[in-house]
Amino acid sequence: MASTGSQINGASDGNDREQVAYDALVIGAGFGGIRMLYELGKRGLSAKAFEAGSGVGGTWYWNRYPGARTDSESWIYVLTFQEELGLDWDWKERFPTQPEVEQYLNRVTDHLDLRKHIELNTQITAAHWDSTKNVWEVTTSKGKTYTAEFLITATGPLATPLKPPFPGLDSFKGEWYQTGLWPKQKIEFAGKRVAVVGTGATAVQVIPIVAHNAKSLTVFQRTPNFVLPARNYPLTEDQQVALRRDCKSVLARARTQSFGMDMVDATLKSTDLDAEADVQRVLEFGWEIGGFRFIFETFADMLTNPTCNAAAGEFVRNKIRSIVRDKQTAELLCPYYTILSKRPPLGHFYYEAFNRQNVELVDVKNNPIQAVTSTGLRTGTEEYEFDMIIFAVGFDAITGTLAAIDLRGEGNQHLGDQLNRDMSTAYGITTPGFPNLFMVSGPQAPFANIPVIIDNTVDWIGKTISFMGKNGHHRIETKEGLAKYWTEQVEGIFNATVLPEGAKQTHSWYVGGNVPGKPVRPMFYFGGVAPYFAACDKEISDGYPGFMFSDDSTGAVQARL
Ligand code: NAP
Repeated sequence: MASTGSQINGASDGNDREQVAYDALVIGAGFGGIRMLYELGKRGLSAKAFEAGSGVGGTWYWNRYPGARTDSESWIYVLTFQEELGLDWDWKERFPTQPEVEQYLNRVTDHLDLRKHIELNTQITAAHWDSTKNVWEVTTSKGKTYTAEFLITATGPLATPLKPPFPGLDSFKGEWYQTGLWPKQKIEFAGKRVAVVGTGATAVQVIPIVAHNAKSLTVFQRTPNFVLPARNYPLTEDQQVALRRDCKSVLARARTQSFGMDMVDATLKSTDLDAEADVQRVLEFGWEIGGFRFIFETFADMLTNPTCNAAAGEFVRNKIRSIVRDKQTAELLCPYYTILSKRPPLGHFYYEAFNRQNVELVDVKNNPIQAVTSTGLRTGTEEYEFDMIIFAVGFDAITGTLAAIDLRGEGNQHLGDQLNRDMSTAYGITTPGFPNLFMVSGPQAPFANIPVIIDNTVDWIGKTISFMGKNGHHRIETKEGLAKYWTEQVEGIFNATVLPEGAKQTHSWYVGGNVPGKPVRPMFYFGGVAPYFAACDKEISDGYPGFMFSDDSTGAVQARL
């Protein structure tokens, strides 16, 4: 990537501007950071990314717990400029494992020669906007400082694992692990009494694996989940060839499907069917085909019609009752709220694991875990002894990682404080008061297959920076009006679904309900990716009416329209 002669730092604008070290600094080297570095380089900008891990991959570097794999189908869990990338890569399974995704991102990094632009083992601790110079001053955990005209956060939506929220952890004499910080060395379960705390998408992947090896496995469940069968399968050579051949149409489909998947949104409404048996037949199709197709390829009114949602919920409960032999355990595993008000996990023989003699389910909804003891866990009424405890208790999603950085914009405002007080962004990419800051997978971006959204966001950021370069602008600011409009969209659309009540009741992470004290509100746009992409495109084609640009370093702002 050239660090000279870029559109941004060129001397041709006649301003006596301080030379900055980089055009752009990027925080994170997962899907978002890698895609961003590539985009910046393609546009002739100098850039550097910082990554806390000792390798690239982000989520796919840290979450190396047993059973970790994607819940999106592999062929659309890719950097979507796949063709342009020209990378020789075939996925092995419908839902690839963590090592395979990590390997993929490493291959992409090397293929694009990006590694030299990434500083590993380094966190950004502070980033301060200097409004007199129009630059970001960034400090790393190694104590070095950098300046850049643009700062781009690519920190990932789920990058700050929650610490086990129980007193006494230090006293525990056995082994304990957090899934989001899983060690690289192999952990042995054989012969051990193991506890898993949590039943979210992470725990649902861990549980069947540990169940096979541990002497005993005790699962502590507070809220049951709608676990949909993944129906994973290896991809044959013929399928791989077909996927390569069809990659353009796969991407085109994903860009029109509401959640960015290679699926076709259902058009059939449950109300179109008179016979209950026909409703059951459609749901059975969704259950058999596996994955999120149960939600998206069955009924178009699943998320808006409470009767349809309830029918789907009862269908899953009946499946649980038919899979899990012990009646009491089956009932405890049955969720009681609207489907998708918590993000449903995909299971790989999850419910079947509870039929094993060595697996026990403990309901802690009404009898919470009170403490970790030297020998195990204590609820209000029982003491349990374990050799190992695995905490799969979730993440401080979306804002947690951003808030942990001392990231300050105009008037020394702290980004995390502002987002917690008033979450208000333009398309989840920028926010008022933070000039020249772009967020990849930011708050209020779509709830969807993440690489597809990243691709669009990065493209939008790249186009915007190039637009600024061409027009001699050095500063972009988000107008309050656009952020207000986008927030109304995010909240209005979410509130028009059947999801809000259930999300609040069940500590759903995507409304912030899983972190004590965090404001509860939709942190994602649920309006579908096609309208989202259209809104982003329109902003550009209309000449950025929601933004203000400034041409010089004085900070004097010019509204373009
Ligand atoms: P999560 O869905 O937030 O689940 C955390 C679990 O810990 C919940 O079951 C929660 O119970 C439980 N928990 C938290 N505090 C507790 C306490 N004090 N006592 C008892 N239980 C407690 O987190 P996650 O499983 O890590 O998944 C988060 C998201 O990451 C997923 O929804 C998904 O988007 C993503 N993810 C994706 C994949 C994939 O694509 N393959 C895999 C894993 C994760 P409550 O439900 O009662 O709060």
